[in-house]
Amino acid sequence: MSVLVFIDTADGHVKKASLETLTYGAKVAEQLGTTVEGVVLGVVSDDLSALGKYGVKKIHQVSNDSLNHLDAQVYTNVIAQVAEASGANVIVFSNNVDGKAVAARLSVRLKAGLVSGAVALPDTSNGFVVKKTVFSGKAFANIAVNTAVKIIALNPNAYKIVAGEGTAEVVPFTANVNAGKIKITATTKASGEVLLTEAEIVVSAGRGLKGPENWGMVEELAKVLHAATACSRPVADANWRPHNEHVGQTGIAIAPDLYIAIGISVAIQHLAGVNRSKVIVVINKDPEAPFFKAADYGIVGDAFEVVPKMTEAIKKMKGVA
Ligand SMILES: Cc1cc2nc3c(=O)[nH]c(=O)nc-3n(C[C@H](O)[C@H](O)[C@H](O)COP(=O)(O)OP(=O)(O)OC[C@H]3O[C@@H](n4cnc5c(N)ncnc54)[C@H](O)[C@@H]3O)c2cc1C
Repeated sequence: MSVLVFIDTADGHVKKASLETLTYGAKVAEQLGTTVEGVVLGVVSDDLSALGKYGVKKIHQVSNDSLNHLDAQVYTNVIAQVAEASGANVIVFSNNVDGKAVAARLSVRLKAGLVSGAVALPDTSNGFVVKKTVFSGKAFANIAVNTAVKIIALNPNAYKIVAGEGTAEVVPFTANVNAGKIKITATTKASGEVLLTEAEIVVSAGRGLKGPENWGMVEELAKVLHAATACSRPVADANWRPHNEHVGQTGIAIAPDLYIAIGISVAIQHLAGVNRSKVIVVINKDPEAPFFKAADYGIVGDAFEVVPKMTEAIKKMKGVA
């Protein structure tokens, strides 16, 4: 019996979401009186043993070049082998793009109950009950999982990373790696300096900006904050911004520490993708704009006056020219 955490990587580096799932997995293991192990696929340049400070004791590494890119079917097959060999009865993923693709397939393969979108540790006082978000984050549900093997996909930013002491033992795992049914022929990377799904701060703008020529001030604010840029759907539909910046129900769902929304009215479909942000700041010239109801801080004003002033003030604070 053990807890197994899928350690997600990008370009050979461990994603921040994996530090959350490792911290979470270690706590679940403590609750169940067992240990937490990790599984990492592909070639990784980070020092994996250093992940021991998040509580993981042993990491199974399947270093096969064909695993450097996500192929959900191949990943499922390999992780199932590791889970079976390690006797894992709780498997933890981040509920990010990779986790969503693999966790559901693995749950079918292992006949395991899956809770996706978990936001808290399981309640093990009477069974195994996991709290998750439902209806695009508008409500919570508590799901009792009764299967022998349980899979949890933890919402990004739902659990605080805690780093302590310790190193993990990294052991090579020889898996039967099937040839994938898909072949990646080219990869086009998003152009922003900070990856939207990983960003701690996101500066986002909507139709209130009038046209693509006005995005310079958004990019400048994002740059001083080391933030990613995002936009509402009509902005992407009008080709003012690329589609990979579109957040919301039909776009990317994000959960940064800080979400700054400029000239966005906030329809329910937009909010569905950003309502897991820890702090929301809204800049809108209309004091009745519905986004103010969801905001932690609001600035009523013209974005064309407020945003440059904000950027200047942050530059001054940071001592940047
Ligand atoms: C099935 C479906 C799915 C959808 N999915 C998504 C989705 O995933 N994501 C998404 O974003 N939308 C989605 N939409 C669209 C959504 O319903 C809204 O139409 C859209 O989010 C509105 O975008 P907006 O806030 O940029 O524009 P608007 O609603 O036009 O709002 C512009 C805002 O800018 C403010 N403003 C204007 N000028 C200024 C200024 N100078 N300074 C400051 N503020 C100013 C205005 O007061 C207004 O509040 C979806 C719609 C449908 C039907």
